Amino acid sequence: MKQFKVGKKAVKAAVLLCLLAVIVVVCVVVLMGNDSDTADSDLSEPKAESSQNTAKQANTEEEQDMKTTEEQKKPEKETIEWNPDWEYADHSKIHTGSAVLYYSQAEDLKDKVICINAGHGTEGGSSESTLCHPDGSPKVTGGSTSEGAVTATAINEGTTLLNGTSEAEMNLRVAKLVKTKLLEEGFHVLMIRESDDVQLDNIARTVIANNHADCHISIHYDSTENDKGAFFISVPENESYRSMEPVASHWEEHNALGQALIERMEEEGVPIYSSGSMAIDLTQTSYSTIPSVDLEVGDRGSSTSDETLETIASGIAAGVSSYFK
Ligand SMILES: [Zn+2]
Repeated sequence: MKQFKVGKKAVKAAVLLCLLAVIVVVCVVVLMGNDSDTADSDLSEPKAESSQNTAKQANTEEEQDMKTTEEQKKPEKETIEWNPDWEYADHSKIHTGSAVLYYSQAEDLKDKVICINAGHGTEGGSSESTLCHPDGSPKVTGGSTSEGAVTATAINEGTTLLNGTSEAEMNLRVAKLVKTKLLEEGFHVLMIRESDDVQLDNIARTVIANNHADCHISIHYDSTENDKGAFFISVPENESYRSMEPVASHWEEHNALGQALIERMEEEGVPIYSSGSMAIDLTQTSYSTIPSVDLEVGDRGSSTSDETLETIASGIAAGVSSYFK
């Protein structure tokens, strides 16, 4: 028994000694490891290797996520500055402002840039005038500028809704809702105006869209006050107008885009005026080299409730999807 007790103590001591030895060895190894790192001429190398290893692990664990990230290398947004070399750029009078191109971060990217142009909102726009048509020919219909006019205000102030809100403000509210929906659906969005004012006239807005977007939708409210419903401005059935460039090459696209928007807006529950279109010779149409429409989403008497605006925005987003299908 006594011998056994002594033997037990001896075993305990031996185990403790072994543990101590192991701890000492581990400490020495760790210190040597640090020494060798310190001795290395490039301190950053081991760190870089270690972070690379971590990244490799992340790759294997979240390969799918990384793939998605690879596809989304584009920044969230980009400022689009004016370029005087663009076609028709010399026809614009106000172009010190810039637009912003938002890149969709959605998984299902559509590879299309939609220009959303909140109509009006350019201080001083009424005191400048620009050519209605790039070739200087007179307007073929009336509208905010009368038929036969060669020049029009560079951009006017727009109307005011019966509840006192400016059209420019309403246009912007709708534009922002549309932007959010389009980005969610995988479309990139070129926003012409994002605050009360942007120093870009109608020609500047159109020329920027021509060079950075796949289609151009300007948002407006009409000056009537009977809440008559939404419509788009179609290209007048006028021989000389439809044979003038760039209208000749694009008028069918303009009408097709307008039609797609109105059809889907109606499906979403937006009241539509008459056949959904009104033919007017517009500056926007006259300078557009991409599918382009002026969309009147309501008039001065229309409801401005959040629910109404949501419905309008959903209809526009659905119309864009349907046009590019
Ligand atoms: Zn307007």
